[in-house]
Amino acid sequence: MPSGVINLQRQCRIDSQVSLTETATVCEEEYNFSVKLNQHGLKMYCCANCNYSTPYKSSLKTHAVTHRNVRPFECSVCHKQFKLREGLKSHFRLHSGEKPYKCKICGETFAQHAAMKYHFNKSH
Ligand SMILES: [Zn+2]
Ligand SMILES: [Zn+2]
Ligand SMILES: [Zn+2]
Repeated sequence: MPSGVINLQRQCRIDSQVSLTETATVCEEEYNFSVKLNQHGLKMYCCANCNYSTPYKSSLKTHAVTHRNVRPFECSVCHKQFKLREGLKSHFRLHSGEKPYKCKICGETFAQHAAMKYHFNKSH
C-alpha cells in the first residue's frame, strides 16, 4: 500500500527531524515489529511489545502509538492530549455535554462509561 508508506515517512520526519533516508531506519526500530505469515499465507505485522498483529502496516502504526509517549490527539477546548482518538472522544463529551451512557436501573445518564459503571456499582 504505497499511501501507507508515505504517511509513515511523513510521520517519522516530524518525529525525528532527520533526513528521509535516516528516518526510515529510525522508524523501523521505533515501531519494533516483526513480519510473519499467518495460516492463510497472509503477511501479518506483529507488534513486538504485545501480541497485537494486523495485515495493515498503517494499523500497526496507529497501534504503536499506544506504546510510545506520544499523544497526537488534542482536545480543542482545553488542550488536554490523548494517545488514542477514543480517549479524546470520551473526554470531549465533558465539554459537549453529551451523555450517551444510561443507567439501566434508574435512567441517569453519564458522559463516560466508567462513570456510569461506578454509579451502577455504588447505587444499585
Ligand atoms: Zn503492541
Ligand atoms: Zn478538553
Ligand atoms: Zn442508576
